[in-house]
Amino acid sequence: MTSGRRLLLAALALAGASLAGSQAAAGRQAAPASLPPWTPGTLDIHHIATGRGNATFLQFPDGTTLLVDAGAVRAAIPYADPLPDATRSPGAWIADYIRQVHPDGARARLDYALVTHFHPDHFGETWAEAPRDAAGLQLAGITEVIDALRPRVVIDRAWPAYDYPTPLVTAPSAASRVERSAVGNYKAFVEARVASRALRVEQARVGKADQITLRTPPSAPFEVRIVAANGVVWTGRGDETEATFPPLASIAKDDLPDENMCSIALRLRYGRFDYFTGGDLPGDPEGAPAWQGVEPRVGAAIGPTDVHQVNHHGSIDPSTPAFLTALRSRVLIVPAWAPTHPSPDALKRMLNPRYYDGPRDVFVLALREPMRHAIGARVQQLASAFGHVVVRVAPGGDRYEVFVRDARTPERAVIGHTGPYDAQ
Ligand SMILES: [Zn+2]
Repeated sequence: MTSGRRLLLAALALAGASLAGSQAAAGRQAAPASLPPWTPGTLDIHHIATGRGNATFLQFPDGTTLLVDAGAVRAAIPYADPLPDATRSPGAWIADYIRQVHPDGARARLDYALVTHFHPDHFGETWAEAPRDAAGLQLAGITEVIDALRPRVVIDRAWPAYDYPTPLVTAPSAASRVERSAVGNYKAFVEARVASRALRVEQARVGKADQITLRTPPSAPFEVRIVAANGVVWTGRGDETEATFPPLASIAKDDLPDENMCSIALRLRYGRFDYFTGGDLPGDPEGAPAWQGVEPRVGAAIGPTDVHQVNHHGSIDPSTPAFLTALRSRVLIVPAWAPTHPSPDALKRMLNPRYYDGPRDVFVLALREPMRHAIGARVQQLASAFGHVVVRVAPGGDRYEVFVRDARTPERAVIGHTGPYDAQ
């Protein structure tokens, strides 16, 4: 037996054991063999496990679609195999996943694609052997997905200047444009498509709920609000925002905001149902200036939230007690892909009943072997340890359920099913 095969069997056994061992899940249903198709009025949120970064595909009640991030880390990392395998790039697997669940199948297009921030596990990176478009620009991560699924609108944190808090684009070398930075490749790529009128690019408008919208209003109120980007945070009142970073000129060079702090965060609302996703927002600044902890301010603005994607892959500093207490989430989804996530300490906080009452189900996209050992017996408290996680919200937003899909094969069979949960 190869070590890869042993790992696979261990992971499958782990996923099964964790599902059976969870005491907190709302209810067990016989899992269908495959995910029932999306139907109008339903909101689907697919957390896609590529093993190479984040990608979340949302299908809104009227069929409008949004992709949040398309990570594509290139480096081989021990215990962090690509999913389902390395025969395709992460961007190609993301497109394959979306075509599988989209009603238009192979002809599927995206309405919106959003990049939370410019790190490889959220928008990809460049390398000499990556495939190119006709203009010689590299297709990897978000550029590969844009090329395949042709969104109408791309939203990022820096269009059109890409210079906050400091210039994000490295000047291309005279020798080869391959050596331009990943942000430079992305910038040139989207600029070319804007010039040919194939695409619109917008900078995230914090506080606003009119940037990502439906074509057809559903039966219940529906809203996607940008609640943070570049340190500007929604206050929770109307469209009002506040700048949480001091003036850049007053900040010591070593303390300037980093990419994670600048992440775009979204709050989605459908009837009574609330969902949050916020890229790699940091929590406890751990000795650095207090303003660097963006997450607690976002939590105070959004308040109770049924389901949230855990910030920064479950790293040790976010998921602070203040954030967990503010959101009181029934379902938490940890977009872990590296062997260092989620941090055992952060997971312990997520499961701690002192921060808020009642049960909660924690789903991890890819709990790698080293972290499974580090977490120890607490693994048995996870609702799932491995697989794509799909939140399906019923028409009107009163109830939702969660499906776990096998991330090891392109068929993506359903291997877990919990709910229904009542939206609060
Ligand atoms: Zn990340």
